[in-house]
Amino acid sequence: MVNRSAQDIRRLNRFEVLRRFHASSGPRTRQDLASETALSIATVSNLTSELIGEGVLVEVGQAGSGGGRPRALLALNADRGTLIGIDVAETSVRTELFDLALGEMAVDERPVASGDVTPEQIVDLVESGVDTVHMAAGSLRSRVLGVGISLPGLVERKRGVSTYSPYWAWRDVPMRDRLAERLGLPVHLDNPLKASALAELWFGAGREVDNLVVVMLRSGVGAGLALDGTLYRGATNSAGEWGHSCLVFEGRRCRCGNLGCVEAYVGTAGIAETLRSLAPGDPLLAEADALAAPLLTGLAARAAKGDPTAVEVIRRTAAYLGAALGNLVNILNPEALVLGDQVAAHLGERLLVETKAALAGHALAQPLRAVTLRLSSLPHDAVSRGAAALAFEGFLNDREVFGPVSRTRAAKARAEGHGDGRRPGRSR
Ligand SMILES: [Zn+2]
Repeated sequence: MVNRSAQDIRRLNRFEVLRRFHASSGPRTRQDLASETALSIATVSNLTSELIGEGVLVEVGQAGSGGGRPRALLALNADRGTLIGIDVAETSVRTELFDLALGEMAVDERPVASGDVTPEQIVDLVESGVDTVHMAAGSLRSRVLGVGISLPGLVERKRGVSTYSPYWAWRDVPMRDRLAERLGLPVHLDNPLKASALAELWFGAGREVDNLVVVMLRSGVGAGLALDGTLYRGATNSAGEWGHSCLVFEGRRCRCGNLGCVEAYVGTAGIAETLRSLAPGDPLLAEADALAAPLLTGLAARAAKGDPTAVEVIRRTAAYLGAALGNLVNILNPEALVLGDQVAAHLGERLLVETKAALAGHALAQPLRAVTLRLSSLPHDAVSRGAAALAFEGFLNDREVFGPVSRTRAAKARAEGHGDGRRPGRSR
């Protein structure tokens, strides 16, 4: 029997190795991987031979011998199969088809009707998206290794259940099984906070730091947490619901039913509310109820021309955001705070600069010095890309890549509580 904790350690180590390949393209030797991950060469050799056996990694040549023994160069085998990442948001469903190196092959985005939406409607939209990307890429569905789907709200990953979606009043909907049945493909379910944190770990700020918070700013608001290089989920996978922590005592009514939540101030509906309080008849409000993008692009364009209302809306949004982020900085002491998603993509540099100034008034000096606030380098597809990465992990977990138990000494030590399986002196 595989010891549970030993299995977890192997999965963490495998994640460390694979994310080096996704973080920067280009082949690597086992020695490169050992120095990049701070895992022992024995652990890396063990992991890579199993990944080669699975067809996920391939040898693509030899590194320059330079007098020494030539070393095999390894790369991701993009042709091994495909992955699908799907971002089901309140207003749209984005479906992306990737090769195994997470290179994008096709993308489809379709709107979700406003108001109450049934699980069946979402299943229909997902199926149409999956059909469309395959047609666009000329790729076969039989090549799909896994589908990662991010659903808004709370998701219990292991059971594959959407436990609570505040937007559509869903409770305990077994979405994974419904989607898997309809698509005829293996489905892995999670929420956008987990997907975007994973995307930053693999492709964004997480390439440089191990402790980061990804702040998702769209109609829903939350924080994806990566601590010590690993996605943090909490006891029931609901960690990071910072959007529903209290920013203003007895403040604005939030869609979750409580008062004064962060989301009610820095989510798209909250930004519209701030505009309404400043300029009740503003023409941007006419569209804002249905769609966030025209509100955000309109505000950005007007602020760029110096429109005082738009400038003030962004300043106030940043002031709320800075106060709310101060809590995260004080509690978690991260190295990077990444502003991501729709609001960050549209309001960009202006929001960043104003939020930095506001944050300084709310975080303690020492953790503030340790943190860098930045815009996501993946503003448009962090969630769908992260969902595909989740599908990749799910595929490998399902295949039991590691087969027979062959614990490394370091992993054994970790399993027994004598270390973390990494060489001492790890510093990044
Ligand atoms: Zn709330």
